[in-house]
Amino acid sequence: MLAVVPPPITVRVPSKVNLHLGVGDLRDDGYHDLSTVFQALSLTDDVTVAVAEDPGVEVHGEGADSVPATQDNLAWRAVRALAEHAGLDADDLKVRVVINKGIPVAGGMAGGSADAAAALVAAAALWRLDIGREELTAVAATIGSDVPFVLHGGTALGTGRGERLVPVLTRHTFHWVLAFDRGGLSTPAVYGELDRLRAEGDPPRLGAVEPLLEALASGDPRRLGGLLGNDLQAASVSLRPALRRTLRAGVEAGALAGIVSGSGPTTAFLCEDADAALRVAAELSGAGVCRTVRVAHGPVPGAKVVSDDTAPRPTTPPD
Ligand code: ATP
Repeated sequence: MLAVVPPPITVRVPSKVNLHLGVGDLRDDGYHDLSTVFQALSLTDDVTVAVAEDPGVEVHGEGADSVPATQDNLAWRAVRALAEHAGLDADDLKVRVVINKGIPVAGGMAGGSADAAAALVAAAALWRLDIGREELTAVAATIGSDVPFVLHGGTALGTGRGERLVPVLTRHTFHWVLAFDRGGLSTPAVYGELDRLRAEGDPPRLGAVEPLLEALASGDPRRLGGLLGNDLQAASVSLRPALRRTLRAGVEAGALAGIVSGSGPTTAFLCEDADAALRVAAELSGAGVCRTVRVAHGPVPGAKVVSDDTAPRPTTPPD
């Protein structure tokens, strides 16, 4: 008799940039209250989950060497969490997770969270789970605070630790240039540096988010450019002073505005349109201030199945 093995499922997942990242005071649980506006960008990772006799994780692409190919990988943790949630035997996971990274590792663009979100969608499809988006979002939030956003994509206002999301109305597509730094930055280290800087004398805090929400609804990149802001930027620049030069170089190359993305050290430059983004990218890559430059646009949708091989494949029976 032929055994039927479900086909592998590949999911494409976006990265994120925070257009506004307001960081409140340190809470008793060690987290900070955030008020943030995320936008999902077309710089993506692909994650494939397949039934396999040799379970485990493989990582390829951008920064693969610094991503754990172990049970600590966020994509693996997501698959495990979903199995437990669905009542499957999590200790007997016969799946292989293959990650193709385009999102820089430890770059402030939620790369690990993106892989977790993609793995949730892929595993739910592979196991044909009857699970709605809301339930999947609840599992996502147990993995990390950015996971629900990259699951949903678009543009959203996040509160709490960033995991409580409300969609934000935007008009038109915005065009970005991303400058990858030569190394990564640890998110906890950047928050720690912000606490230290605040204890010393408070770098100014971001104002209200409403003007930025209005700019997004207008679709005018010039208006949006003037309102981008990130409370973590002072801390990232304090830990990586060369970012000051990168931020200046992007604006000198013609970007409307530049910010550190999340906890950094990736810098994100908003451009007038797609052609301007290509010009800024070319000039910035010649300026020698960063490792690599990419163009991207947003908002884009969240984690989505892209494999079209949906028919179960018969396998040769064992002898
Ligand atoms: P954020 O923007 O959410 O703060 P980040 O983009 O700065 O995150 P990540 O790329 O998510 O950072 O990586 C943070 C750390 O998580 C890495 O140093 C890496 O060791 C670990 N990690 C675990 N799984 C993954 C994964 N699938 N992809 C990337 N990093 C992972």
